[in-house]
Amino acid sequence: MIDFRSDTVTRPTAKMRDAMASAEVGDDVYGDDPTVNSLQASAADRLGFEAALFTATGTQANLLAIMSHCGRGDEYLCGQSAHNYRYEGGGAAVLGSVQPQPIENEPDGSISLDKAKAAIKADDIHFASTRLLSLENTIGGKVLSLDYQRQARALCNEHKLLLHLDGARVFNAAVKSSCDVTEITRHYDSVSVCLSKGLGAPVGSLLLGTKTFIERATRLRKMLGGGMRQAGILAAAGRIALEQGPLRLSEDHANADYLGAGLAGIPQLDINPASTQTNIVYARCRIGRAEQLRDYLAGQGILITAGDPIRFVTHLDVNRQDVDQLLDAIQRFYQS
Ligand SMILES: *Cc1c(COP(=O)(O)O)cnc(C)c1O
Repeated sequence: MIDFRSDTVTRPTAKMRDAMASAEVGDDVYGDDPTVNSLQASAADRLGFEAALFTATGTQANLLAIMSHCGRGDEYLCGQSAHNYRYEGGGAAVLGSVQPQPIENEPDGSISLDKAKAAIKADDIHFASTRLLSLENTIGGKVLSLDYQRQARALCNEHKLLLHLDGARVFNAAVKSSCDVTEITRHYDSVSVCLSKGLGAPVGSLLLGTKTFIERATRLRKMLGGGMRQAGILAAAGRIALEQGPLRLSEDHANADYLGAGLAGIPQLDINPASTQTNIVYARCRIGRAEQLRDYLAGQGILITAGDPIRFVTHLDVNRQDVDQLLDAIQRFYQS
């Protein structure tokens, strides 16, 4: 199967599996796992923070961030389409008693800082206390500009808010922004990063912040059932993902551009190829239903996510020939 549904589908390489098999491990709840400790230390260094925490998932890292920054009755500002508002089961509200205040995302994925400012609650007993602004980069494959992120930081400083980045794909953002990842992360109090997407690890994410913030998050991770024991087996793959994953993301972006250009040549599809910024390509069916296209492609050994729009994601397990096969199969679908 050629799988364009998500970059989460990537399988660990032989090198990762070897590293996992031979990883030195200990009980991470006691802080004894040398492989977890080394991953956390190198991640903190790589992303420019005092400390890092290895987490089961990106969802867990975001939840820990919100719960570490905010208390019961506080609120966080986020995008209406933010992953940590829409796609995380309402965890911040359910488990953290933290109220989200979603704000409609602009077409470029950002949140208007004027709207964010207007949403900050006054100090009044009627209102939840606004504590945190949470941004996402990349968001739907789109990159927030460095200048925008600098302005978001200034807004937070002015209004004494904390600033979190859901950086599940922050290395894709850094590649597109042609900068070191720390040029992005330096604006934030905390950042979450997925190792298990385009970076290629089978499992795991990271949360980054100050030492005291990570201490709080570690306690909460235990409370939420995320204290894993010989987690070095997983961190061994994570170390390779963090070191080597970012180096090849530009290939995924080039393949996404190539796919976008190919899709634009298919008259039955509606796509603006210039809208592809990283590894995610969106297209709409002008004729017929996306589900029919998805089912036809599945019969040809190609998986896509049918939606409106359809989403195609490039990653380390799809190459240029796979993209050509996808384009050929879509053309055959419309000719049949
Ligand atoms: C995938 C993703 C997450 C969550 O990661 P999981 O490991 O799937 O829980 C969070 N934020 C964004 C933007 C994501 O794309």
